Amino acid sequence: MIVTMQEGASEEQVQKVIEHLVGLGFSVHRSTGERHTVLGAVGARTDFDVRDIEVLDGVHLVHRISAPYKLVAKHFRPQGTVVKLPNDLTVGGDKVLVMAGPCSVESREQLFSTAEQISAAGARVLRGGAFKPRSSPYSFQGMGEEGLKLLKEAGEKYHLLVISEVMEISQIPLMLPYVDILQIGARNMQNFNLLRELGHVRKPVMLKRGIAATIEEMLLSAEYVMAGGNYDIVLCERGIRTFETYTRNTMDISAIPVVHKLSHLPICGDPSHGTGRRDKVAPMARAAVAAGADAIIVEVHSNPDKALSDGAQSLYPKQFAELMDTLRIIAPAVGRTIA
Ligand code: PEP
Ligand code: MN
Repeated sequence: MIVTMQEGASEEQVQKVIEHLVGLGFSVHRSTGERHTVLGAVGARTDFDVRDIEVLDGVHLVHRISAPYKLVAKHFRPQGTVVKLPNDLTVGGDKVLVMAGPCSVESREQLFSTAEQISAAGARVLRGGAFKPRSSPYSFQGMGEEGLKLLKEAGEKYHLLVISEVMEISQIPLMLPYVDILQIGARNMQNFNLLRELGHVRKPVMLKRGIAATIEEMLLSAEYVMAGGNYDIVLCERGIRTFETYTRNTMDISAIPVVHKLSHLPICGDPSHGTGRRDKVAPMARAAVAAGADAIIVEVHSNPDKALSDGAQSLYPKQFAELMDTLRIIAPAVGRTIA
């Protein structure tokens, strides 16, 4: 951390800041310039709040140099994390994994028909919510365990792995036999008790970025899971809330290269929630792959006009097949292939 003192800061103020930094466990290197005194604070501590220093008398500016997270930081695993999945699939290697399926599991007919078509088009993982976080308590809340059973059965029938959202700790043991990846939804990105518990699970988790979360906050949430011992994490950019109202969210494609720079964890792009509109999904899926996404998750429904959730952003199966064709062209341009 670099602390620049105000012009004319008194020696007493400088000493007080030094004492404070030493008290936090830093060793302090002082340099006195013509106008400003600059303090370089070096140490292993990451769990400090720069504002505590900023508010001390005589302080002008404070710059944090080390990231507040450790295990998710790039230098912890410079070679990058490759999350291993069944069926010889991975997230984070040369291959881009495509996950697709309805927003919610609604019925056997809906799920099986969708699964058959996404599998034929080349998806490797079937998505579908059995527990749904809905803004309104009167909206469809998901089929629960019945939905999980259908996911597993459809996954086995059409050679697809399964990803589904876990909303609370009590659902974890229930879900484990049915799913290959546990999804943490945007609304639960900072449910720290749930994150801690998922740290003890031996199954990959996909952590979606919160609706109003910074990239650093998403990385800190991943740190909770890693700190518990689960290193198999895929991050997910699913759009953030901005002042733009045309799209449901603003898909932050730049989060993909930013995460790759800051962390070793792979990142997935979700253009469905990222845009909220069917006609914007394919362009943003392509943009995410071009930007280096390690996976894509797309909502597809056999009959989106009748969907119980997120119909407007769900692709028709034919549109999904066309999207896959274009992703197979784009991926090699950035040194990848579609899994
Ligand atoms: C979903 O995947 O259907 C979902 C609810 O996503 P998010 O948590 O990103 O809103
Ligand atoms: Mn959805």
